Amino acid sequence: MDFADFAARAEEIEAESADLEITALVRDLFEESNDDLPIVARFVQGRVFPAWDSTTLDIGPNLCYEAIARAAGPNVTAADVEDRLAETGEIGEVAASYEFGGQRGLASFAGGGRDGLTVSEVDRSLRDLAAAEGSGSRDRKLDVLFGLFNRSSPAEARYLARLVLSEMRIGVGEGTVRDAIAEAFDAPVAAVERALQVSNDYGRVAELAREEGEAGLEGVQLEIGRPVQAMLAQAGTVGDALEAWGTVAVETKYDGARVQVHYDGEAVSVFSRNMEDVTDALPEIVEFVEENVGPPAILDGEVVAVEPREEGDGVRPLPFQEVLRRFRRKHDVGRMRGEVTLWLHAFDCLHADGEDLLEAPLTERYERLTEVLDGGVSKLTLTDDSEEIAAVEAAALEDGHEGIMLKNPESEYTPGRRGKNWLKRKPDVETLDLVVTGAEWGEGRRAKFLGTFLLSARTESGYETIGKVATGITDEKLAELTGLLEPEIEAQDGKDVTIRPSVVFEVGYEEIQRSPTYSSGYALRFPRFVAVREDKDPDDADTLERVERLAGSSNAT
Ligand code: AMP
Repeated sequence: MDFADFAARAEEIEAESADLEITALVRDLFEESNDDLPIVARFVQGRVFPAWDSTTLDIGPNLCYEAIARAAGPNVTAADVEDRLAETGEIGEVAASYEFGGQRGLASFAGGGRDGLTVSEVDRSLRDLAAAEGSGSRDRKLDVLFGLFNRSSPAEARYLARLVLSEMRIGVGEGTVRDAIAEAFDAPVAAVERALQVSNDYGRVAELAREEGEAGLEGVQLEIGRPVQAMLAQAGTVGDALEAWGTVAVETKYDGARVQVHYDGEAVSVFSRNMEDVTDALPEIVEFVEENVGPPAILDGEVVAVEPREEGDGVRPLPFQEVLRRFRRKHDVGRMRGEVTLWLHAFDCLHADGEDLLEAPLTERYERLTEVLDGGVSKLTLTDDSEEIAAVEAAALEDGHEGIMLKNPESEYTPGRRGKNWLKRKPDVETLDLVVTGAEWGEGRRAKFLGTFLLSARTESGYETIGKVATGITDEKLAELTGLLEPEIEAQDGKDVTIRPSVVFEVGYEEIQRSPTYSSGYALRFPRFVAVREDKDPDDADTLERVERLAGSSNAT
């Protein structure tokens, strides 16, 4: 296909505002594209490389202005190009405003013989340009780009400039391309979508749809070394999760950087959340994978910066900013490795032992994860009990992590989607400071600790109960709380003890409901232990009146 034809189509698409019409125009473009279909399917989105490929053209705006200026003639400078850009605000408009390659004019006037660009030629030149590196690479890039502009008509120059600066913006999103592929080659949208998710290559999927139809699309498999988009989470509550799924898969939410790890037995590749190749910056993750992962495998997880705990017992996670000091680093990787230690927490498995697992339920993927990875597997707790969820959360926070993730145990891995199957538990909006008036002794190994605590709100005449909070945190924390509360025990009945009001807990919750279970007439839904308010006496604790007010406002919303 001539690049001029592509530019003409791009112009038509850009002028159209109705989505259905845009899809129809893209469909027509795909139908006309013949051998260039893969390239056209990328160009139309302003891409030269497939999404899984981290290669970039590495053409800064200045280089582009220089190339345009050079092609526009001896009287034009890069500064002139920038001035025009300041006026019009759009590089395509500026590029189209010059008359390039004066020597070409006569031939085209005579009809035929014009040295026109083709789509595949533009693609090849840009790939050559991307491959240029080392000394002299800037000049080489400039030469190639100049050569392309010099042979461009104004319309071609408009889309060439936008393509090289990744600013195509003709209104063609990923959904449009998906639908256009489906329409052009009579394939089900869902099959196109799945193939796109798995391959991250619009060009290849378009070609497969045309050559092999639905069966070809369904045969698309993950490839080790080519990243897929990460599955994303939405904010949600424990209540949402339990209501929707019954049983919930709960795990720590790590405060680090998302990684997808690929290992074929020879090479390890590590990709960021945006599918950027960050392998070289993370040598210890590479070593860890080489030593502990059974190939071939694709794992999903989080890399966290850690430091040894002073107590000499394991490591403590550091804030996410510390990971960033390592993540995309190109220089001084060795030195920084000494300064910031990284750990991998893997929580999902997309491929194991030659088998793609995207469509397998989470529980099965997790099982496979534990089989291919030795150590570094995030702990997954399956439960239908909100107290157990609260305990996992308390333990995660106690260990210095960000919170918890709630996942649907039956759900598939849906790349790139912010679906409802992964919920990051929302932080509590408001907390209450409540008095501990009772407790229960733990069981088994924890029989010597007080485990569940009865909470009360203050009234004019005393205290009224409102809920229980389980603090199934670390043994250390339980010992500390037991030490604090045991001297205050007033009475004991089996495992239940009554405690003299003296200690105040800060407690989070998702909702306050009316309930006959507790003497206050209210109950906290999904209470969560936050901290001991050492600075507060029972007289400073929250009142039942405040609880009533909060319940009123939460019911009103
Ligand atoms: P957010 O960045 O707030 O949208 O939260 C979602 C992110 O949390 C994911 O993209 C992951 O990078 C990160 N994350 C941390 N721990 C987990 C986990 N156990 N499961 C899934 N994502 C996690």
